[in-house]
Amino acid sequence: RLPVIYVVTPTHARPHQRAELTRLSQTLLLVPSLHWILVEDSTTRSQLVADLLVQSGLHYTHLNVQTPPVMKLKEGDPNWLKPRGVEQRNEALRWLRENKLSGDTGVVYFADDDNTYSVHVFEEMRYTKKVSVWPVGLVGGLRFEGPLVEKGQVVGFHTAWKTHRPFPFDMAGFAVSLSLLLSHPQVQFDPNAERGFLESSLLEHLVSVGELEPRASNCTKILVWHTRTEKPKLKQEEMLEKQGRGSDL
Ligand code: UDP
Ligand code: MN
Repeated sequence: RLPVIYVVTPTHARPHQRAELTRLSQTLLLVPSLHWILVEDSTTRSQLVADLLVQSGLHYTHLNVQTPPVMKLKEGDPNWLKPRGVEQRNEALRWLRENKLSGDTGVVYFADDDNTYSVHVFEEMRYTKKVSVWPVGLVGGLRFEGPLVEKGQVVGFHTAWKTHRPFPFDMAGFAVSLSLLLSHPQVQFDPNAERGFLESSLLEHLVSVGELEPRASNCTKILVWHTRTEKPKLKQEEMLEKQGRGSDL
């Protein structure tokens, strides 16, 4: 039996949410032995997401937890002001610890709903002993950020932003074995972590840099990109809504 890949995705309601989740779900469909844990940033699980999950054909768990309002970005705030998706990823960790047994084999990957994933990135992470790592494209103000590997060991990082971060790479650039998470039941993401330190806030309690397992041909291949979707312009929609004939599908 293949170890299960648990893909944890925080998601929030917005006009292009269904487009993002459609693209991601259809990527995940190409991966065997995968369980999608989709966590809505909301007070209740929405019908939109529930329907999408049923129709996806994926194995999934549908969760929700609302980010406390004081921690939410306001309209017009720069997106780096506050971390996003933290409570949701922690909720997925809580669910895994409650529902999985210490003998279960698997790996946990935190996959935001707007990134672009090659199907190949999933096979790179499937056999993770502790924490596996690979480069991420279009992040950190660079074409990519990623681990530097010598003789099969991570010896440093290609990064230009806050280079003093203990684990200076994006959420999309690592996966953690399920058993490591289960054997450290208190470890989670720190909602108050300094900007850029969210990944480190989890990993520093789980591994050392020397223990990281380099994947994607010794971290020379880019198989995931931190793409971001332009906010759709719905100016005309507001006008139609005022006239009571908004686009309602
Ligand atoms: N997200 C969320 N609540 C929010 C904003 C974002 O759950 O209020 C989710 C979002 O859907 C995504 C993840 O958190 O899966 C990271 O957010 P985003 O892509 O906006 O972050 P960035 O790309 O800027 O790091
Ligand atoms: Mn994003």
